[in-house]
Amino acid sequence: MRIGFLGLGIMGKPMAQNLVKAGHEVKVWNRTPGKVVEGAHAAATPKEAAKDAEIVWLCVSDTKAVEQVLFGRDGVIESLKPGAIVVDSSTILPASSLKFAERVRQKGGEFVDAPVTGSKVGAENGQLIFIVGSRPETFENLQPLFRVMGKSAVRVGENGKGLAAKLSMNLMIAMTFEGFAEALVLAKKQQVDLEPLLSLINQSMVRSRVVDYKAPFVLSRDFSANFPMRLMHKDIHLMLEAAKQNGVRLPGLETVDKVYQDSTREGHSELDYAATLMTLEKAAGV
Ligand code: NAP
Repeated sequence: MRIGFLGLGIMGKPMAQNLVKAGHEVKVWNRTPGKVVEGAHAAATPKEAAKDAEIVWLCVSDTKAVEQVLFGRDGVIESLKPGAIVVDSSTILPASSLKFAERVRQKGGEFVDAPVTGSKVGAENGQLIFIVGSRPETFENLQPLFRVMGKSAVRVGENGKGLAAKLSMNLMIAMTFEGFAEALVLAKKQQVDLEPLLSLINQSMVRSRVVDYKAPFVLSRDFSANFPMRLMHKDIHLMLEAAKQNGVRLPGLETVDKVYQDSTREGHSELDYAATLMTLEKAAGV
């Protein structure tokens, strides 16, 4: 298929690379030039990347970035073919995504929100999980591409529902890690060795995939970004905004947001969100 891929960050670059490896004709664009995807053509603008594409796939930071790429100067909308499908794998506000979907539909295109879970490793290994909001038939048409970049794709409902589900899941990730980090700090302060503690965690009902993934990094004090803290913090703000729009209270998450604010002030926002642990440790004096 002819695919325009926009946004070559931690997630987008390996996703685009996997599409090329599977034999698709891929044109890539990134805001900052110089990021290369082997075997793909480089486009100078989103408009150029979208020209003649059957599918336009996006994976950029936030709501504003998606709006700029789609509707800004030299944006996708200027060259989108009628019948083309725009798939957005960025994590953004569901209500904004619905507005973008409507504008794409007015131009004769189809829109899909398909945020992902699986982090950097999942993107590199083609093991992402796509959380999809779309029409059922569009979801079926995209199956071959989901299979190239991921291990599964779940359609949650119509437009916006993929993002709504993704934010709920990320809420659990943020709070699960926070629980793990607070438990480590409390244990450390009481001179408990972390190795046996982790062994206990892994044998008990508090074991979680979040802990499985993060524990080796935490133990080796490697806080380099897999999922940068600035992006998890962005997602926390999206969750709180979605909660406000829908009349839901999230008192636990409001508290976690304060930890992220402190961590950001301490200069950790480009590190992995696991670096919030350092903020808790500092406050506890361990
Ligand atoms: P990243 O490494 O920070 O890359 C962000 C990408 O967005 C870059 O290509 C950046 O371009 C582009 N961008 C930012 N602002 C832009 C703008 N105004 N106009 C055009 N392009 C812009 O982020 P990532 O980790 O790949 O994440 C991408 C999305 O996936 C985010 O929504 C994130 O929440 C979500 N996500 C990430 C993970 C993860 O583990 N990393 C997991 C699941 C979901 P430049 O190169 O020019 O800065």
